[in-house]
Amino acid sequence: MPNADTSGKFYERPETIASGDEAKQLLIDGNKRFMQAKQANLDLGSTKRTALLKGQKPFAAILSCSDSRVPPELIFDQGLGDLFIIRNAGNIIDPVSLGSIEYAIEHLQVPLLVVMGHQNCGAVTATVEGGEATGSISAIVKRIAPAVEKAKAGKNMSKEELIEKSIKENIKATIRIIERSPILEHVLANGKLTIVGAEYHLVSGEVQWLNY
Ligand SMILES: [Zn+2]
Repeated sequence: MPNADTSGKFYERPETIASGDEAKQLLIDGNKRFMQAKQANLDLGSTKRTALLKGQKPFAAILSCSDSRVPPELIFDQGLGDLFIIRNAGNIIDPVSLGSIEYAIEHLQVPLLVVMGHQNCGAVTATVEGGEATGSISAIVKRIAPAVEKAKAGKNMSKEELIEKSIKENIKATIRIIERSPILEHVLANGKLTIVGAEYHLVSGEVQWLNY
C-alpha cells in the first residue's frame, strides 16, 4: 500500500469523538486519502494492539456488503479499534445484524452508523434478475426484494438503472428498519446517534453520502 507519510509518525485519530458529524468528517477525510492513495501511517503493530487490550472505542459502526472490493477499513483509511463493522451480502438487516448494531450503539456509544451499499452489488443484481436462489441465499434475496419492487415503481428503466435504483432503495429500507429498533429510540431522540446512507463507487473509490 503506498504511504505518503514519510515522517515516521503514526496517525492518531482524536480519542474522543463527540458527535455523529465529527465522526462522519473523519470518514470523509479517510475516504479522500484512500481515493488519492495517500493513506495515513496507521499503527498496526504490537504497541497499538496492546493498547487496545483494555477495550475498544470505535467511532463509527458500518453495515456494509461482504463484497471483497468493498472493505470499509481500507475505503475509509482507518486502523485498529476505529470501526465496528457488520458485513453480509447485500448489507441487509436481519436480527443478527441489527443486534450487532444495537450492541455498538448501546454498549460502545458509537455516535455514527453508516449503512453502505455499493455500485454493481451482486446481491442486489441477483435479486433484480430473479431466478432461483438456492439454500440460504434465498434469505438474502427475500430481504432485498421489497427494495427492488419499490425501485420498479414509476417509469420504465433499463436493467442497469433498476439495479442502481434498487441499491439506493435497499439502503433506504435498511435505515428505516434500524430506526424502528426500540433499543435505539432514545439515542435517536436525544441526538446521540446519527444514521447516514452511503454508496461506494468501485472505480473512483468515492463514498457518496445519501441523506436518507
Ligand atoms: Zn454487494
